[in-house]
This record gives sequence, structure tokens and C-alpha cells, in this order.
Amino acid sequence: MVDLELDGVRREYAGTTALDGVSLSVAEGEFFTLVGPSGCGKTTTLRLVAGLESPDAGAVRFGGEDVRGMPTEDRDVGVVFQNYALFPHMSVRENVAYGLQFDGPPPGTTADERVAELLAMVDLAGMGGRDPDELSGGQQQRVALARALAPEPHVLLLDEPMSALDARLREQLRRSVKGIQRELDVTTLYVTHDQEEALAVSDRVAVMNAGRVEQVGTPQAIYRRPETAFVASFVGDNNVFEGEVLESGDGSTVVRVADAEFALPPTDAEAGETVRFCVRPERLSVAGPPTGAAPPGNRLTVDVETAEFLGDVTRLYCRWAGRQVIVRTSDVPDADRLAVEFDPAAATFF
Ligand code: ATP
Repeated sequence: MVDLELDGVRREYAGTTALDGVSLSVAEGEFFTLVGPSGCGKTTTLRLVAGLESPDAGAVRFGGEDVRGMPTEDRDVGVVFQNYALFPHMSVRENVAYGLQFDGPPPGTTADERVAELLAMVDLAGMGGRDPDELSGGQQQRVALARALAPEPHVLLLDEPMSALDARLREQLRRSVKGIQRELDVTTLYVTHDQEEALAVSDRVAVMNAGRVEQVGTPQAIYRRPETAFVASFVGDNNVFEGEVLESGDGSTVVRVADAEFALPPTDAEAGETVRFCVRPERLSVAGPPTGAAPPGNRLTVDVETAEFLGDVTRLYCRWAGRQVIVRTSDVPDADRLAVEFDPAAATFF
């Protein structure tokens, strides 16, 4: 069931088009993430849903009802922003209790019980008496989350809640947020510029670019079947190639890129057309040192420029025919030139 919907939403600020016709629908209980580079319109979208901004055109609907003009406090949303925004002069307990100020605790519980329950949920049981400045950044953000969840909002809005934290804390907090979201089954709209985070936590992701939605899908679909060059490059490392179709048949397409010919999956493009496709770095396998013979199959001879050891794998930044080619491999030969190859099925057209 659709819980939250944006329909052709536009928003301009003095000459800047922040949102250029955004349409999205989020299902009840879904963890839905907006991801994209700085300035693409993620925060503006979230603020429109929160009722902190109004659209210039288009509609925002909750459960099918247009919420134009409805103030934030009537929208049944809980919001957590990037900067914890806790009240410094209030204890942790008082900060969380503040979330109950409008509606009081849910029926059958007292405010104290509800606050204790929330602090336990965010792993801060026993810390209610502390002041915010006696907590780490990650703990402060957990308090902000508990405060937002206190009135049992129907929709949870999270705007880069982890971006001020270091990598380890971010990973811990994202697991807690995901666990709590599952447990409460609360419809969640999450904003991040971090594509790895988006893939890790979401049921579905919308990739935004320059005020528009480029693609909406499950993390797997976004990663495996990017529909645009932007999505292919923004979400994870990728190798994007452009070439000319030499043959287009039922079983395969032959595409020339620089002076190489690749056998790729079938596509609608006809001979002579220019096409773009991508191959993920982990789908390029190292075939060993280059041989003198003409390369068979989908094989490229690359010059290794930089190797980054990442622990379980190594990321090789290479050059081939004037382009960068990235290879992710656990098998790192000690050589400056390598033959790498890919299976036709590893290529995705867009
Ligand atoms: P970030 O990841 O950097 O927070 P974002 O994707 O959330 O970026 P928005 O904050 O939604 O992007 O901004 C979208 C565009 O609208 C940007 O070009 C921004 O400069 C502009 N913008 C946002 N708020 C205002 C405002 N109050 N006045 C003028 N321009 C604004």
C-alpha cells in the first residue's frame, strides 16, 4: 500500500531549480532512501515531506491525502537531522521525553516507562541522567532517534543522521537504525550521499541527480542493472564504455570500443549506432600477463597505475585505450601490464 507519495514536485529557490519534477511512492513500512551527490535535492525532498517547505508545483500525499498546507506537527512524522540538535541543558531522559510533549505517551504506558523503553531500544539504557555533552556523537544521534520515535510517528524522516560520525560508528548506528526500523515497521525516508550506506540499509533506493530522480529500485537492481550512465558511475565503482555496434543479433551484440571488439548481450541497438555499457570492477578477472597474440574474447590489456590494498580485495586503477579501467581482485599479480577479461553477461547496456 502506498503510504507516501510525491507527484511531479517542483521547488525553486531564487533562480535555482532544487527539484525538477520529482515523483516517488513509498510503501507502508518501507525503508526508502534518497541518495545522490551534494545539491541534488535530497534534503529539499525530505523537508517537503516534513512540511518544512511547500512545493511550487506537484503534490505530496500521505495515504492518498494531499497534505498541502498541513503543518509539520499534524503530519505524524519524526525527523532526525545531521546535527543531533539535542537540547544541551536537558538530560538525555528529558530530551527523549520532549518527543512526547504534544501527544503524551502511547496508551497504557507512562512517560517514564516510554522513555526507558526508547533508551533501551537505542542501547542507551542507564544513560538517561547524563547531559548530551557527556555522550559520543553516535550516542547523541541515538538520543535524537529515540526522541523522534517517542510519539510513535507514522513516518520517520532521517536526513544524513550518520554523516558526522566516523566510519565504525556509522556502521554500528546504521545496523541499529535498520534493526529498529524493522522492529517498529515504520515507513522511513532516509537521505544520504553515501551510496554504500544506501545499498546496505534500504528496501528501495531512489538515485537523484540535479533535482530529478534517475532510477528507483532495490539495492540489487540499482547496482546490477543501472539504467543510466549517472547511476552506473555514482553507485559503486564502475567501468563505463562507449562504442559502435558492429553486429546486432538475437544472441549477442558485437561492439567496437577503441580498437577492441567485444561480444556483449543482445540489445535493440542496430549496427552503426553508438551504445554505452558498463562492467563492474569485480566482473573483470585477471587473466594473467598479456600474451603477444591478438587478444581473444572480451580481453583487454591494461596498464596498472595504482593498486589500493583493501584487505579482502585490491582495487587496481588501470589505463586502457586512454580510459581508466578499475579492476577489483583478490588475485594481484606483481606486474605493470595485465590481461583482464569479462564475461558477456557482466556487461549492462543503458
Ligand atoms: P547536500 O547533500 O549537500 O545536503 P542535497 O542533495 O540535500 O545536498 P538540497 O539541500 O536539497 O540538496 O539542495 C538542492 C539545491 O537547492 C541546491 O542547489 C541548493 O543550493 C539549493 N537550495 C537548497 N535550499 C536553499 C535555500 N534555502 N535557498 C536557496 N537555495 C537553496
